[in-house]
Amino acid sequence: MRIVFATGNRGKLREAQEILGDAFQLVTPADLGLTEDIPETGDTIRDNSLQKAHYVKDHLDADCFADDTGLEVEILAGRPGVHTARYGGPEKDFDVNMDRLLADMVLREKEAAMARSLGVSTPHANRRACFRTVVSLILGGEVHTFDGVLEGTIARSKRGSGGFGYDPVFIPDEIPAPDGSLVPNTERLTLAQLSEEDKNAISHRGKAMRAMAAFLHEK
Ligand code: IMP
Repeated sequence: MRIVFATGNRGKLREAQEILGDAFQLVTPADLGLTEDIPETGDTIRDNSLQKAHYVKDHLDADCFADDTGLEVEILAGRPGVHTARYGGPEKDFDVNMDRLLADMVLREKEAAMARSLGVSTPHANRRACFRTVVSLILGGEVHTFDGVLEGTIARSKRGSGGFGYDPVFIPDEIPAPDGSLVPNTERLTLAQLSEEDKNAISHRGKAMRAMAAFLHEK
C-alpha cells in the first residue's frame, strides 16, 4: 500500500519506512511533484500536524500522514511548544535555539529565586520538559491522530554530538538497556549521547509512528 509522508526529511522517511515495514511504500510529496513548502501556521503542534496532512490530501488526493513535534518546558510554561523549530530565530539554527532555551531558563530561575527571596510564593523552579509528536493520518478520507511523548529534563549545557535539534540538552528519564528494557538514565546522558537506534527506541516520534504502524497493521 502506498502512503504519502508529508516530509522533505530523508532521515525521517527512512525511520518511518523501517517502522512501517515493507507492506507500506512511503513516498514524499516531492516524489509526486508537490515541491512547495507545506504551510505550518497552526497554534498548536496538533493543528500543524493536521494542517500538513490535510494540505497533502487536498493537493494529491492520496492516503497520507504528517508529523509535527514540539519541546514543552515546564518552567517556560510549555514553551517553545509550537515555536520549537524557530525559537532562536527564523534560521532554525540548532545551536542558536538551544542557547536561547538555556538562557531563558536561567532567567526564569533567577526570577523565581528573586520572588521567593521577597517572600512571594512561587512554584519551585525545575528543569522538567517533554518532546511531543503528533502524527496525523488521513486514510480513505478518515482522519486519525497518534501521540508520542518523551519525558526528561533540560541539561545546563550541551553534551554529545549525535542526533539533531535539541538533542544535546535533552536528558531522557529512561534509556534502553542492552536487553531492550527501559532503565533509569542514571548517567544523565543526553539524546545526543545515545546511538541512533537507542534514541529511536524511546523517542516521541518513534512512539507516535509505532502507534500509527500498529493501527495500520490492524486494518
Ligand atoms: P519537526 O516538527 O519534526 O520539524 O520538529 C520541530 C523542531 O523540534 C525541530 O526543528 C527540532 O528543533 C525539534 N525536534 C524535533 N524532534 C527532535 C528530536 O528528536 N530531538 C531534538 N529536537 C527535535
